[in-house]
Amino acid sequence: MRVNTTDTIVAIATAAGRGGIGVVRLSGPQAFAIAARIAGRLPAPRMAALRRLRDAQGATIDQGLVLCFPAPASFTGEDVVELHAHGGPVVLQWLVDAACGHGARVARPGEFSERAFLNDRIDLAQAEAIADLIDAGSRAAVRAAQRSLDGALSQRVRALADTLLELRVHVEGALDFADEDIDWLADATLHARIQALCEDLQRLLADSGRGRRLRDGFVVALAGRPNVGKSTLLNRLAGAEVAIVTDIAGTTRDVLREHIDLDGLPLTLIDTAGLRETEDAVEREGVRRARAAQDRAELVLFVSDAGECLDAADEALLRDLRADLLRIVVHNKCDLHGLVPARAERDGLVHLHLSAATGAGIELLIRELHRLAGFDERTETAFSARARHVDALRRTLGFVSAAKARLGEGANAELAAEELRLAHEALGEITGRVTSEDLLGAVFSRFCIGK
Ligand code: GDP
Ligand code: ZN
Repeated sequence: MRVNTTDTIVAIATAAGRGGIGVVRLSGPQAFAIAARIAGRLPAPRMAALRRLRDAQGATIDQGLVLCFPAPASFTGEDVVELHAHGGPVVLQWLVDAACGHGARVARPGEFSERAFLNDRIDLAQAEAIADLIDAGSRAAVRAAQRSLDGALSQRVRALADTLLELRVHVEGALDFADEDIDWLADATLHARIQALCEDLQRLLADSGRGRRLRDGFVVALAGRPNVGKSTLLNRLAGAEVAIVTDIAGTTRDVLREHIDLDGLPLTLIDTAGLRETEDAVEREGVRRARAAQDRAELVLFVSDAGECLDAADEALLRDLRADLLRIVVHNKCDLHGLVPARAERDGLVHLHLSAATGAGIELLIRELHRLAGFDERTETAFSARARHVDALRRTLGFVSAAKARLGEGANAELAAEELRLAHEALGEITGRVTSEDLLGAVFSRFCIGK
């Protein structure tokens, strides 16, 4: 898809505030003409030249570098000019005003990236990766966003889309030739291919889940009876005093959150009030919020005292957790009971003995959190992904699985073809191959101006 945008847009591309250098970027058919009005003679493409930058009245705004990138080999795919001036807000705004005086218009948020997308310079997942790169909160997140920008997610999505297309051709072919003797749907390779597609989708879904966690973090709720050491554990993981630690049961009345970077894994820790029935109104409110916080969590750290067995109430609490919640049982205060840090698995549940107070065994917990968040050596090849991508992949997998079922016993090629079409559509949302105005609006409006 190649669009002809007639407007030339302009925006400050660097961060707000003062800096040694600030960049004003222009993109569109008039970019060179407008830049020439401001800077005089333009340098050769991709060569920097120092120029006096003037407003429409001829007053000098600043001296700075001018760089020209002719279409189509530019970020947006249009003629692009960068004016590198001194990074004062008044200087940069004056340059923007001068460009507007010569016919440019101020860019909407994300409009440069949107044009890059519309001109096929990048796909939608890559455009999102640019925003993720800028917003990255850790080096691991930077590396992951970089990989998405390089097309790590897009390439896999495109390969799956190609496979889906072949399958659609095959199944729709079966519909067209339904009267003939050859039974296209009985083709054993068809079933093998659709099965392989399901497995590839599952793998990509798992990797994207990891990528999403790199971007959005992993939400962990601390639960357990009062005084078992939840706040102490939160402080230990966060490496700072954030929660109130006391030995009066029920002091953590509010829900405390802490965003931490646990060796590359962005974690949101929620310390919840002891989940117990209480008469105290303030504490009751805390308990209510604790339950709400747990609704948002992906993993629950269930803390107990290593010296005590889990009682019936604990067992009930554990059992009542949302089925899809990951969980780890922490037997805390092992120092107090003369126990050594250890890891054990019982009934598919991981139990850790450690001491939040002394820090003994904390590395076991960190390793376990990394493992459950899907963070391991593979993180080195992780790409950033968004909830939107994970959702699209989940729907794609649902449609492909439905198609597989339709091609099984008592095959119905028509319904299978429709499921495959829907799968193709859902998958296409990720890279923007299949787009709607709504989707584009939703993606690009969250960018800041100048991106
Ligand atoms: P919470 O109510 O579950 O948040 O428990 P706190 O974190 O407030 O801890 C309650 C008490 O247990 C405090 O006096 C802590 O110092 C103590 N405590 C917490 N963790 C440990 C531990 O690992 N070892 C020992 N000996 N004491 C601990
Ligand atoms: Zn507490």
